[in-house]
Amino acid sequence: MNIHEYQAKTLFAEYGVPVASGVAVQSEAEFDQALSQLPDGAVVVKAQIHAGGRGKGTFTDGFKGGVKIAKSREEAKEYAAKMLGNTLVTHQTGPQGREVKTVYFTEPVDIEKEYYLALTLDRATSKIVIIASTEGGVDIEEVAANTPEKITKVFVDPASGLQNHHKRTLAFGLGFSAKEQLKQFDRLISGLYQFYWEKDCAMVEVNPLITTKSGDLQALDAKVNFDSNALFRQKDIVALRDLGEEDPKEIEASKYGLSYIALDGNIACLVNGAGLAMSTMDIIKHYGGNPANFLDVGGSATEEAVTEAFRIILSDPKVEGILVNIFGGIMSCARIAKGVIGAAKTVEINVPLVVRLEGNEVEEGKKLLAESGIKLTSGDTLADGAKKIVEEVKAAKSA
Ligand code: ADP
Ligand code: MG
Repeated sequence: MNIHEYQAKTLFAEYGVPVASGVAVQSEAEFDQALSQLPDGAVVVKAQIHAGGRGKGTFTDGFKGGVKIAKSREEAKEYAAKMLGNTLVTHQTGPQGREVKTVYFTEPVDIEKEYYLALTLDRATSKIVIIASTEGGVDIEEVAANTPEKITKVFVDPASGLQNHHKRTLAFGLGFSAKEQLKQFDRLISGLYQFYWEKDCAMVEVNPLITTKSGDLQALDAKVNFDSNALFRQKDIVALRDLGEEDPKEIEASKYGLSYIALDGNIACLVNGAGLAMSTMDIIKHYGGNPANFLDVGGSATEEAVTEAFRIILSDPKVEGILVNIFGGIMSCARIAKGVIGAAKTVEINVPLVVRLEGNEVEEGKKLLAESGIKLTSGDTLADGAKKIVEEVKAAKSA
């Protein structure tokens, strides 16, 4: 689960991480009241979307920049009015962009230098990796590719926590040496680590972390991602969830216990088990197709959930074909068949459908489907099913 920059900064402040003050607004009616809480003069206006690269982004109407420094309150209101309701495209949003529903007014900062700082889980070592770089304000992937020597990493064992030597290595990597700066960095990194740990974060990225002209440190941007599996014990974090930023199909799916992730392709897949879903996507690619989603109905999905899964898949206008791939272990193939039949009653399946069933109650499942009169092709194996759906979609397109 992601949150907005302004929400992350409120949390940072609670952990003693220095941030500039600011106020978030959702409508023009709130502009004056919000701006009156900031010092008079220049104001930074920042579009709040769950994606980075806003500064270099462009709105679909041609307006440039999702981060604007306004010289006055009047100018700030103009920028904010242009952003609200407008769609911002950045290299992280995809070409369709994201509608800006919240704008953040914040204090301008006299930047001396921009740095990069992030905390995330390193699965290979089961440790928390802290990544720091003197190259801030640019994507870390770019720095890693071009100037990897400018990146410092430390690996923190969660059992013993953040140690002084970790902090020293990071501070040295960032080139901090003045006593006051080292003290500030110590407080900042300790706060971020504690925040990461206590709030079950999956990633905390501060890009840029900055030094001001007077030598102080500050988190100028904040991107935070929480571990969804820990949300049950993070009620205050769940309260920050902005459903307007999430794919409505994914929200619908989560209500029925389905794991659904929308992708760019045109062949939808409905599979039981995450591993099988991954291999189904791979094999669709192998035969020249492109998966439209990842969908795992799980081992204990009900007939109703399967029907819902179909409904979600078919609500995606990009979908030009469906591959159902079920290996019935705990899941019964008959239940999947009933779900498909139930879906066909309520939504029109107007794209090619290939079904491959194997395992528990497979004969009954196949029989139910055959008797239902639903137009479908059956696949004997995973490869056969994938090949058939790719071919059928191609044929339907050229027809
Ligand atoms: P994004 O990463 O989405 O582009 P940032 O918050 O990192 O958004 O802002 C982009 C750039 O804008 C920063 O690297 C910084 O140079 C500048 N900037 C952002 N906030 C401020 C601020 N409060 N004062 C001065 N400059 C800022
Ligand atoms: Mg940034």
